[in-house]
Amino acid sequence: MKLYNSLSHRKETFVPHEPGKVKMYTCGPTVYHFAHIGNLRSYIMEDVLEKYFRYAGYDVTRVMNITDVGHLSSDADTGEDKMLKGARREHKTVLEIAQFYTDAFFDDCAKLNIKTPDVVQPATGCIDEFIRVISKLMEDGYAYLAGGNVYFDTSKLPRYYVFQDFNEDDLAVGVREDVEADENKRNKADFVLWFTKSKFEDQALKWDSPWGVGYPGWHIECSCISMKYLGEYLDIHCGGIDNAFPHHTNEIAQSEAYLGHKWCSYWFHVHHLNTNSGKMSKSSGEFLTVSLLEQKGYDPLVYRLFCLQSHYRKSLVFSYENLDNAAKAYKKLIDRIAALNPAGETAAEDEAGMATLRDKFAAALDNDLNTSLAVTVLYDVLKAPVSDAAKLTLIGDFDTVLGLELLAKAEAARRARATAAAAADGAEYTITAPADAPAEEAARIHALLLERYEARKAKNWAESDRIRDALAAEGITLKDAKNGVAWSR
Ligand code: AMP
Ligand code: ZN
Repeated sequence: MKLYNSLSHRKETFVPHEPGKVKMYTCGPTVYHFAHIGNLRSYIMEDVLEKYFRYAGYDVTRVMNITDVGHLSSDADTGEDKMLKGARREHKTVLEIAQFYTDAFFDDCAKLNIKTPDVVQPATGCIDEFIRVISKLMEDGYAYLAGGNVYFDTSKLPRYYVFQDFNEDDLAVGVREDVEADENKRNKADFVLWFTKSKFEDQALKWDSPWGVGYPGWHIECSCISMKYLGEYLDIHCGGIDNAFPHHTNEIAQSEAYLGHKWCSYWFHVHHLNTNSGKMSKSSGEFLTVSLLEQKGYDPLVYRLFCLQSHYRKSLVFSYENLDNAAKAYKKLIDRIAALNPAGETAAEDEAGMATLRDKFAAALDNDLNTSLAVTVLYDVLKAPVSDAAKLTLIGDFDTVLGLELLAKAEAARRARATAAAAADGAEYTITAPADAPAEEAARIHALLLERYEARKAKNWAESDRIRDALAAEGITLKDAKNGVAWSR
């Protein structure tokens, strides 16, 4: 598999540190507000990457932090604490805010079919770890105490700006956020590892440390949480492109200073979702959340498809018009899958065709996770000269990566169509299942019997016989009545 690595600025063949295993780290959300759909674009693309690693046979361990302390409103350690800001806004405690928005984040993820990482670690649960790592950085001369805070000394590194050569003035501390530059820093790029003194003495969460009562900086949490669960060698680190500098740059600085060797091999950065008016924001313009899309009648998976239809390394413009196009495409795709015959088996002659389609799907994703091409392979499957059963098998397999719930949605569409047909007929057609039938089985058989009803109505006796025979093969007998059918085993 080839992936673009932000460190080398080119596509590289992915080779994990340990053969067959992938250690993957994802910067989690700062839980002071709902995630906007831009944040979720990053998590959707990272989810596809994880699922594709698994599809390709890797044993993946993925870790994510939850930033519930230490992230100031500027990524360069200036401004107000985001958590405190959220707590003030809602007249709640910081911990209440953290819990509420962590839950809200995972609710959104569930709606978008984003798998929860194997380990999810809130920063506040790892304070001892942070203190241990910062202490070693102090001992080894990579950190210094100034004005009560502990800073990382970026001048101690042979190369600090690893992703690209930033001009130090680009940091523009004291300009952008309208706050004063931190006079304690020896070098402009130095960053805080541990705060004891800051502009907001009313910081809600504080811990004892060798440097005084205080709280950790934002960057240290990801290094420590990653090393704690994934060890000294990380294969791939993910995040939105805005995190490359300073957040990931600082993570690399402190992790490699601590370890004494290279830490993470591949950096996967998702580019931004923007609106027509520019950057997506939680404070200005329409605050675009998954719930808002739902209120407007969109299935959250339409947004997932919208994201998959473009490459993660291109910025993407959100508009309702674009989303409507994705909604149309999603419905069409589901309808076409629903039209396939769900009863049947793959045949030996399907094999070659299936192998070709599998290769095509893998080739798309092997080329720097080309999800839009992978989605078009679904249409190739629908057109391919293989049986319906083969098509459904392939679509089910590919969807373990794409996460669009295609088979379940198609089944629901089939059922809805049959129910609507029955209702339109005006007949009270009742389907009676044995009282002890498991719900899932009852639903599946119900759908088949509705299809049989539709077939009989259309005088399609071959189809109605086929369904009856398929059920008989499972040991199910049917007893037809005037306006309904009862089945039993
Ligand atoms: P935060 O909760 O602000 O720490 O951000 C969570 C994730 O969303 C990070 O990986 C960010 O890099 C990413 N992110 C922020 N804004 C956007 C955006 N407009 N489009 C895509 N990803 C974003
Ligand atoms: Zn991070």
